[in-house]
Amino acid sequence: MLASPVLIPEFIQAVSTVIEENAEEVTALDQAIGDGDHVTNLQRGLAALGELATGLGALGWSGALQKIGMSLMSTVGGASGSLFGTLFIAMSKSLRDKEMSLQTLSDAFAQGVDAVKQRGKADLGEKTLLDVLIPVANALQEAAAKSLPLPQVLETVNRVAEAGVESTRDLLATKGRASFLGERAKGCIDPGAKTSQMMISAIARVLAASATPP
Ligand code: ADP
Ligand code: MG
Repeated sequence: MLASPVLIPEFIQAVSTVIEENAEEVTALDQAIGDGDHVTNLQRGLAALGELATGLGALGWSGALQKIGMSLMSTVGGASGSLFGTLFIAMSKSLRDKEMSLQTLSDAFAQGVDAVKQRGKADLGEKTLLDVLIPVANALQEAAAKSLPLPQVLETVNRVAEAGVESTRDLLATKGRASFLGERAKGCIDPGAKTSQMMISAIARVLAASATPP
């Protein structure tokens, strides 16, 4: 197994911490091209997940991801709430009755990202969180096909996620609030891409630590 669901509270804690530590920076990004609420939206969702955290491990991966997705859907709000909710619910469906492995994780993530694309009617290159999620999904698929060792998988995922964030800088936004700004959104990083990258790298850090013998 790649990771036990017992780690879920640790993942939630790590994600909450990284959002907390970067709250000002991300709020500034959303103030520049959105309405400034992205961090508070996420914090509301993460606080709700924190309440659920200890009970999630016992549900197994599929059950826990379903509950996480439903909770995010109803607490985060904003465009990102339904998108992150959709991601986890689709991952839950994909992992039903399956063991968590690099292959099943990459399949589940790919399915989750496809569901986000459909829900947001968006794709790569539209200056959204998909500019991080799609490259990460592709990198995971490739890593699973090559059965790369975990440290290499995590290093690759971190690298493509960071490149994805940076790629949003010069893009024109065609979806979400930033699309109202036209050319004025150019030069700014997308806040949802930034938080997606930070959350993914926080999860990668927990995974790396859990796989390293003490
Ligand atoms: P809102 O824009 O409703 O205030 P948030 O501030 O929580 O919601 O989230 C904004 C982020 O949501 C954006 O930075 C972008 O990454 C993402 N986003 C918005 N619309 C879409 C869409 N249609 N598809 C994918 N991502 C989107
Ligand atoms: Mg916003």
